Amino acid sequence: GKRVVLASRPHGEPKPSDFRIEDYTPPAPGAGEVLLRTIWLSLDPYMRGRMADGPSYAAPVPVGGVMEGGTVSEVIASNNPAFAKGDIVLSRAGWQTHALSNGQGLAKIDPKIAPISTAVGVLGMPGMTAYTGLLDIGKPQAGETVVVAAASGAVGSAVGQIAKIKGARAVGIAGGKDKCDFVRNELGFDECLDHRDPNLAAKLKDACPKGIDVYFENVGGAVFEAVFPLLNAFARIPVCGLIAHYNDTEAHAPKWAAAMMRNVLTKRLTIRGFIVSDFAARQGDFLRDMSQWVREGKVKYKEFVTEGLDSAPEAFMGLLKGANFGKQLVRVGPD
Ligand code: NDP
Repeated sequence: GKRVVLASRPHGEPKPSDFRIEDYTPPAPGAGEVLLRTIWLSLDPYMRGRMADGPSYAAPVPVGGVMEGGTVSEVIASNNPAFAKGDIVLSRAGWQTHALSNGQGLAKIDPKIAPISTAVGVLGMPGMTAYTGLLDIGKPQAGETVVVAAASGAVGSAVGQIAKIKGARAVGIAGGKDKCDFVRNELGFDECLDHRDPNLAAKLKDACPKGIDVYFENVGGAVFEAVFPLLNAFARIPVCGLIAHYNDTEAHAPKWAAAMMRNVLTKRLTIRGFIVSDFAARQGDFLRDMSQWVREGKVKYKEFVTEGLDSAPEAFMGLLKGANFGKQLVRVGPD
């Protein structure tokens, strides 16, 4: 077997030497355990947080430890009556070809419902993040305007499409023409703008003639600064991610922090951070609605696959700067 461990804690952007690929012999399952073979490894921006040891909502990966991650895995040996050889399961096996589990936290995946990779994508954690953050915090109403960045990505693509289902106007922001064309033409957003365009603020104003009612915050940085002046009274801002800042080495208070707070007051803005697990009780609603929308073609999804566990470090470094075009997956082993 093979695994990827954290070799050192990154300072700023992660670099190849922060990861180490090791060979190991997968252990035999003990009493009550199953041995898993990884098929799909999901790469997600939160992993940058696990590489750091600053205060956060989750414990860091120890230096020398296997990088954490969600996987779609196959049970290849079982001493646990709840799982049979050949079962496909959602697991947190991490960046490795094989893993042991006592069965806790494993969820069986039915391959007849949808391609199994969707269990870590549109029908999994990122889809649920979009669903709960948008509907439970953003609460878009028909005719309102919803803005989301990283709009071609796993979370953002679902946010805009769900906004459309709810009758809102969806404006995406993405890196480059190909992603913007896809967001408009394939995903059906009303408009999509390039965040590297020097005229982003002016173009966003044109794209949102009635102002912005929901800003689903995925990135921070220049996008937030362009959005903020356009927010309407009583706008809602689910704060989901700040990917423009994950590699920052120091925190910067904006010069306009006081002006921002004044607007929070006068416009009665709701700015609320969340972690998808806060909404665990919504899992059933999410799976019911999202699988129906996917089946009906109302929510489309795009996957971006790299081949082999060895590709994971580079793919992850790319994910943090937009090299992915769709949900980033690593195909670790055959389906
Ligand atoms: P994506 O598939 O959207 O990939 C990340 C994308 O971020 C890149 O493709 C890139 O897209 C964009 N990006 C990177 N740097 C910048 C920048 N400086 N300015 C603007 N865009 C940038 O990943 P996910 O859908 O998995 O995650 C999206 C966000 O959701 C992240 O912030 C993540 O941390 C957050 N998240 C939060 C969760 C929670 O529980 N709160 C759970 C899951 C995700 P582009 O080329 O378009 O710029």
